[in-house]
Amino acid sequence: MELVSQALAGDRLALARLLSLVENGGDGAQDAVAALYPHTGSAHIVGVTGAPGTGKSTLVNQLARAIRAADTTVGVVAVDPSSPFSGGALLGDRVRMRDLAGDAGVFIRSMASRGCLGGLARATGDAVKVLDAAGFDVILVETVGAGQAEVDIAQAAHTTIVIEAPGLGDEVQALKAGLLEIADVLVVNKADRLGAANAVRALEMVIDRSAPQPEEPSAWRPPILQTVALDGSGVPELLAAVAEHRAYLDASGKWDSWTLARVESELMDTLRQMSLDRVLSRVGPDQMADWVARVAAREVDVYAAAREIVGASR
Ligand code: GDP
Repeated sequence: MELVSQALAGDRLALARLLSLVENGGDGAQDAVAALYPHTGSAHIVGVTGAPGTGKSTLVNQLARAIRAADTTVGVVAVDPSSPFSGGALLGDRVRMRDLAGDAGVFIRSMASRGCLGGLARATGDAVKVLDAAGFDVILVETVGAGQAEVDIAQAAHTTIVIEAPGLGDEVQALKAGLLEIADVLVVNKADRLGAANAVRALEMVIDRSAPQPEEPSAWRPPILQTVALDGSGVPELLAAVAEHRAYLDASGKWDSWTLARVESELMDTLRQMSLDRVLSRVGPDQMADWVARVAAREVDVYAAAREIVGASR
């Protein structure tokens, strides 16, 4: 595929077009992924998540700059489910790009929601593959940690950074969303604000409660860092913690087990989607509506209807 070879050779326009292609899904996306997949597997995928307003985009920008300062390259995938139009995403890209513009070692892409978070997870996974194949050393995936689907996207990373900020009541929110459980690195951003130390203490208590068990003394304990994304304070320490987590993954064999788990989950999702597509291509919408009506009228139960639809008999 020519577009893929151009993108992998460093053509930025081709890279942008390739990202659009995989974002849109369908046969074109599958062909592209087939061509680029052998080139993937080297990038360190880092998820960055947290409640809206905690300073994620500001911190991701700072992280990208710090990664560049260390002479490594960085791709950013900003997942914005709140933006229904890609126009908004494009504007976001332009605003974000300002201080990193013209640097070939950075590529920033906003993913606009296509109205379906499941589809967004797939599209994001494929966009990460594109940037991985294109040779970016680190890929930052920024999501709003608002619901299960976003948590899933954040978790599809080697290293997950969960961001909190004082004064938003986020300690509780994060607990509710199950965000803390997926954190490899915890950040209290806006450390210039009153209440940062309290937020750190609250997080420490939660982490202590789920501290590594004695039978697993070498387990990773998420560090809690403070940053001021506005001026970049604490960002070098955050980057060091991310590198440390990567070293831990390598040394413990968890990099490889992560890969297996990730592939299994992607394969299962894809099989689920393909099986459903196959069934729905045989059973048209009218026939489906008919089945729905029959189940609703108690003529048949949902299991029996599903068995009939897939043509399976017991
Ligand atoms: P996001 O919604 O999580 O992506 O948050 P943004 O990066 O858009 O930041 C939300 C607001 O917080 C913006 O007005 C930022 O300028 C501000 N902000 C970000 N980081 C800091 C910080 O470290 N200290 C302070 N005081 N404000 C910050």
